[in-house]
Amino acid sequence: MRCVSFDEGIDILKHLHEGPTGGHYQATRTAHKVLCSGFYWPSLFKDAQAFVSRCDSCQRSGNISNKNEMPQNYFLECEIFDLWGIDFVGPLPSSFGNKYILVAVDYVSRYQLSQPAFSPNLNVYQSTRKRVS
Ligand SMILES: [Zn+2]
Repeated sequence: MRCVSFDEGIDILKHLHEGPTGGHYQATRTAHKVLCSGFYWPSLFKDAQAFVSRCDSCQRSGNISNKNEMPQNYFLECEIFDLWGIDFVGPLPSSFGNKYILVAVDYVSRYQLSQPAFSPNLNVYQSTRKRVS
């Protein structure tokens, strides 16, 4: 086993963690790879921990460990008919001057309403509905 300097050790860590055979393993495994490669320095495990914790690629693609997970608290409570999705479907072949269908769907119960409309504009639709009713 060859004792290397800190600077050489960082290069070895970088090669064995990020290199073609690295695989971005965790700190302990990377340190063991250094030992298996025949290198050693007194602060190997501490330096491996610091190096892996600063690895940009690991931080971007690493999984969230149980330690970092947030507890699941369901704070979004919605009652039936609280959330609606409203959209126009069309243009369709004209039927009594109507080329669109206004569709409203309740997100909770999936209850849906539909009304014929001659324009895909909600303001025009509302003004015609007021005029009719
Ligand atoms: Zn990494």
